[in-house]
Amino acid sequence: MAVAFAKRMGTLRASEIREILKITQREEVLSFAGGLPAPELFPVEELKEISIRVLEKMGREALQYSTTEGYKPLREKIAERMNRKFKTSVTADNIVITCGSQQALDLSGKLFLDEGDIVLCESPTYLAAISAFKAYGPRFIEVPTDDQGMIIEELEKIIATQKSIKLIYVIPDFQNPTGKTWSLERRRDFMKLVKQYDIPVIEDNPYGELRFENEILPSLKSMDKSGNVIFTSTFSKTFCPGLRIGWIAADAEFIEKYVLVKQGADLCTSIRSQMEIATYMDVFDFETHIEKLVAVYRKRRDVMVEMLNKTMPQGVSFTHPQGGLFLWVELPRHIKSVDLLHDCLKNNVAFVPGDSFFPNGGVENTFRLNYSNMSEEKIIEGIQRLSLAIKNVMI
Ligand code: PMP
Repeated sequence: MAVAFAKRMGTLRASEIREILKITQREEVLSFAGGLPAPELFPVEELKEISIRVLEKMGREALQYSTTEGYKPLREKIAERMNRKFKTSVTADNIVITCGSQQALDLSGKLFLDEGDIVLCESPTYLAAISAFKAYGPRFIEVPTDDQGMIIEELEKIIATQKSIKLIYVIPDFQNPTGKTWSLERRRDFMKLVKQYDIPVIEDNPYGELRFENEILPSLKSMDKSGNVIFTSTFSKTFCPGLRIGWIAADAEFIEKYVLVKQGADLCTSIRSQMEIATYMDVFDFETHIEKLVAVYRKRRDVMVEMLNKTMPQGVSFTHPQGGLFLWVELPRHIKSVDLLHDCLKNNVAFVPGDSFFPNGGVENTFRLNYSNMSEEKIIEGIQRLSLAIKNVMI
């Protein structure tokens, strides 16, 4: 039978990289490839207690369908924390709970994108946001970025010359994949432009609370006087991804539409997971939990940066993230990171080649390293293996 799949399936392909990376799941491979939080930091014992408490106190509600917007006590807690940490002024009514922030990205595609519409994003950007949007057939224009964030002059040139820009997608805090953070000035200039041209912005912020040093910078949402910014975040990195709880915070006009598209997607997010997180926050100190994560990840970042400084040959540069889970490496132009990955796998070390983070491809000499999911000893060993492989191809 010739199956007539939807046209969109033509744009969605299993990536070659994902196939290669399956090998990295072998136990002997030191993999810097994934984006996983450290499982030893998951509050397993505490959640055992919480899940019993939820079932005992609210068992019937916890196993029932719930509202599409999500569990109100959790939305209230999220609003309070966002206002405290990211200087926003949102209420529970500005929030929809989603099945991870990945769902927020997919729903955004559904809400905004018709075939041929333009999405502007950082260059490079988050791989699975590209996949989520791609299903709706847009064209991506990558906006050049530097260490401060999107380059505003470049952004303005694009906005001034392109007609059907429907969405700007950005990750201003500890970006995936580069680990870079936008400066305050860049955030202000960006928001001026967005207001002037009145374009919806998705501010994807899963990592903002995992800051290792200096003050949290105000979110774009906190500078948003015109209601253009749709903020999305998640408990995946600050708590655990397995509960699949993320959220969207936006003006009421957007929230109403997100609720409509979410109804068609899954009716509601697991109410049991939502109750567990809200109850955890009542019983335990969530801020102390995050402090613990930050201390461990900071140390791992330090060890990785120190090892890279010690072992990388001249011509190789890398970022020094102030938070989050990732660091970005740039090789001399003639070295393809995919070829390097093949060499590295022979020595049981892995990373993600950078090309897939560029929606239009064509940048082959970069790669992403993750430091949250490996002990300090293994990071030391892994970077030694990696630098040997790099030195071998640079001879
Ligand atoms: N956005 C970014 C930038 C991410 O890195 C991730 C996870 N890797 C997500 C969204 C999705 O996370 P989740 O669905 O687990 O909330």
